[in-house]
Amino acid sequence: MHEYSLASAIVDQVEQIALEHKAVRVKKIIVSASPYELIIPELLYGAYEIIISERDMFKGSTLEYKVQKAEITCLDCGYQGEPDEEGDPEFAYNFKCPKCGGRDTHINMKSMVIESIDLEIPSKNEEEKKEEVTNLNQ
Ligand SMILES: [Zn+2]
Repeated sequence: MHEYSLASAIVDQVEQIALEHKAVRVKKIIVSASPYELIIPELLYGAYEIIISERDMFKGSTLEYKVQKAEITCLDCGYQGEPDEEGDPEFAYNFKCPKCGGRDTHINMKSMVIESIDLEIPSKNEEEKKEEVTNLNQ
């Protein structure tokens, strides 16, 4: 199950970061994924709930999933950025280059990124926490 292994990877990575920050609790995680991952959000959230039910640090936490904007590299003219039109994610090779109109394009995205993590860290205030975690992901 694709979503289950993704959720498991997210929880493992966030747990690692939370421990590094001496956090006592994970409150919220925002992740984004390439539309080509074809993630079914309900399955991802369901898998997340199952995985965190065995991890105290994650009790009551929420996972938010966003779809990243498509980004392409044109193999004809070298353009990098958003495609001209939103294609069907299942037929990604159909993306059109807005610069030269070519369709020989390559999808240029990370499959999944942890955008932000909201942690409860006893020694720090809310604002500090957020900034620290955001910097970590850059
Ligand atoms: Zn092009």
